[in-house]
Amino acid sequence: MISGWLQTVKGAVAVEDLGLILPHEHLFTDLRGPLAPDYALAEPEAVARVMEPYLAAAQAIGVTALVECSTVGVGRNIAVLQYLAEVTPIYVIAPTGAYREDFTPPSLRELSVEALAEEWVRDLTEGIEGTEVRAGFIKIAMSDDGPTPLEVRNLKAAALASRQTDAVVVSHTASGAVARREMEILESAGLDLGRFIWAHANLEPDPTVHLEAARRGAYVEFDAVGAEWQPQSALVDYTLALIEAGCAERILLSHDAGWYDPSQPDGQPEEGGIRGYTALVEEFIPALRARGVTDDLVHLITVTNPARAFAFADTP
Ligand SMILES: [Zn+2]
Repeated sequence: MISGWLQTVKGAVAVEDLGLILPHEHLFTDLRGPLAPDYALAEPEAVARVMEPYLAAAQAIGVTALVECSTVGVGRNIAVLQYLAEVTPIYVIAPTGAYREDFTPPSLRELSVEALAEEWVRDLTEGIEGTEVRAGFIKIAMSDDGPTPLEVRNLKAAALASRQTDAVVVSHTASGAVARREMEILESAGLDLGRFIWAHANLEPDPTVHLEAARRGAYVEFDAVGAEWQPQSALVDYTLALIEAGCAERILLSHDAGWYDPSQPDGQPEEGGIRGYTALVEEFIPALRARGVTDDLVHLITVTNPARAFAFADTP
């Protein structure tokens, strides 16, 4: 039994009140970068009109909470998230942090490790951008051949802010080699890897590298569920390999789907439009069951693991 609470856009929610949690999704994302003239701008009502059916479909199949991974630099917009949180019973969890180096806004480039960590701790404990909305986790990202020196600073700041708040650190990491380097840096900075999520671990094709990270205590996140570019049978194989190695407690599953794109007049991302949040329940879990994964294991991976990963131990 996991205790504690998740910090959502609407405030703290006890984990025992939650069921299925999607640990890596996107509601509102702007990949033009923070220097684009209209960066991250949109009317919340317009975003809600487009995204509400996708949230309703997710709620209908049992999703109770959704982690919004669009961090600083790729469109984090608190007004939009607040508005969306009112049109769905699904709890939305907002990030602090910074995306990879080429998306880092100028205002964050010159900060020391300590000053950056202080800013992130403020987001986590007081509120984001003058609102009362607190971040529920720290989302960072590594360049494909990173971490760059700026991203090393971000890793150290993330470790420091996590140690002060217990917030989990989620890092977009596209290969096992980069994941190894960042885990070294995080551990040297005093972070227990039980507070680290390797996002996009499915981009590393060698399952022994997933296992190595899981054995070090990190969460290994396969977050391309339902994505047409990722063979789903490979994701099932990766998941089964960790289960069979006794590491089921380290697995996270999500779609990395969405999202409203403010650069498009209709909000639909140019490549293929919006992807929804239902393939996990409708397709992927049945595929796991067909390979012998029990209901208890499905519950562990889709309810208990994300609750444990994102939970804060203390009451707010
Ligand atoms: Zn993502």
